[in-house]
Amino acid sequence: MNTEFVPPPYQLWRMSLAQLDKIATRLFSLYIRTRDMNKHGYVKCFTCHRKRHYTEIHCGHYASRKNMCTKFLEINNNPQCEVCNISYNGNRTQYKKALDRKHGTGTADYIDELARKTCKWIKSDMIDLITSLEKTLDYG
Ligand SMILES: [Zn+2]
Repeated sequence: MNTEFVPPPYQLWRMSLAQLDKIATRLFSLYIRTRDMNKHGYVKCFTCHRKRHYTEIHCGHYASRKNMCTKFLEINNNPQCEVCNISYNGNRTQYKKALDRKHGTGTADYIDELARKTCKWIKSDMIDLITSLEKTLDYG
């Protein structure tokens, strides 16, 4: 799965938080889109169950990815087809149902609650996340 270039750690430390966030977002999206794929690279949309290749599916968020408390929260991120993510604006009604079905009743409300809080990420948090995603995605 080594399809995305990630700079070595000493270069990561020289980057800004915004640049690190960009790399983490790219890797995290790849992780979410490939997490549950079958051996042919296909994965189901979390909200409508249409199958798409992982290169064509989006990483759909329940709570907006503007919020740093939930942006990289695994349960807040799931593969979503373009129709659900863009045309249906995240398909929130189905997303809520699917979250509660998969992780237990109250999960979607918990994510919404968390998304109202403020979380501050520092460079070392972002680098830790990038490093762990690299390992999970089997880089290097
Ligand atoms: Zn869909």
